[in-house]
Amino acid sequence: MSANIIDGKQVAEKLRERIANAVKKIEQEHKKIPGLAVVLVGNDPASEVYVRNKGIQTKEVGMTSYEYKLPEDTPENELLKKVDELNNDPNVNGILVQFPVPQQISQQKVIETILPAKDVDGLHPINSGYLSSGLEGLVPCTPQGAAILIKEACKDLSGKKAVIIGRSNLVGKPVAQLLLKEHCTVTICHSRSQNLELISSEADILVAAVGIPNLVKKDWVKPGAVVIDVGINRIDVEENGESKTRLVGDVDFDDVKGIAGSITPVPGGVGPMTIACLLLNTLNAFCDQNNFDRPSL
Ligand code: NAP
Repeated sequence: MSANIIDGKQVAEKLRERIANAVKKIEQEHKKIPGLAVVLVGNDPASEVYVRNKGIQTKEVGMTSYEYKLPEDTPENELLKKVDELNNDPNVNGILVQFPVPQQISQQKVIETILPAKDVDGLHPINSGYLSSGLEGLVPCTPQGAAILIKEACKDLSGKKAVIIGRSNLVGKPVAQLLLKEHCTVTICHSRSQNLELISSEADILVAAVGIPNLVKKDWVKPGAVVIDVGINRIDVEENGESKTRLVGDVDFDDVKGIAGSITPVPGGVGPMTIACLLLNTLNAFCDQNNFDRPSL
């Protein structure tokens, strides 16, 4: 039997629709709308595409998008000054600095300069503290998207055994916290873990956030498991004698789809959820800053 393919594009589109409706309602009632500021430093082509897409989708849901492009050689203090200016701008409810930043800038300093209330990337230690304490804050976007897709595939997570491969602050750890909050029994694996294949093969929910193309094979997967592939890896392929590149995940999709119960594809799985959750965080940050209740979406 072939796995149910979880359509992240469709789930993200529905979430954006609900966000747009909530923004419309807020605008009618309160005559103001959320604003998201995105700062890009340098000319990385992939980052430029991400930032452009964020701007387009922000406007599509009815929010205001502020975009700032700074040169590659921007000194750290200049970027921190820009962040501070946005911290103090009442029209800006969310701030996102596109990572990676050039090497003269400390990513951690940027994260800690953004006001926690405007930290829509959810990476400030105050927000990770809220998440690990089970309190309401702003949750990193990709893990939040992964958790929404898991709930699409499995309504009752209570007591399920979840294995997360990867322990980064950006993905692995927050996914683990979110699943713990849903009462899963959570195991986090990393590059020093032993018997990874055996641990993975016991999971009802398996999340791969590693950055190694096609690492997870069918022997790593329990029959019927929900498999969430966060990895995005560009690999070289030969097609009809031509050299091309292709995006693949950390899970060998063709190998695993025959055994998993549900699986996310790459592309089209977790990826599209990231911007939708960024918009959700911006809406929540706006509501918190204005003492409005967060809409339940
Ligand atoms: P990361 O910071 O490099 O973390 C990778 C994690 O994988 C680390 O915890 C590392 O362990 C672990 N790892 C490395 N090799 C391993 C192995 N052989 N066996 C088991 N664990 C191993 O990466 P990340 O930022 O979390 O991102 C992970 C993947 O998700 C990447 O492909 C990235 O492109 C993708 N991603 C996608 C989105 C999106 O969909 N929008 C967003 C963010 C990231 P150690 O801690 O021991 O080094």
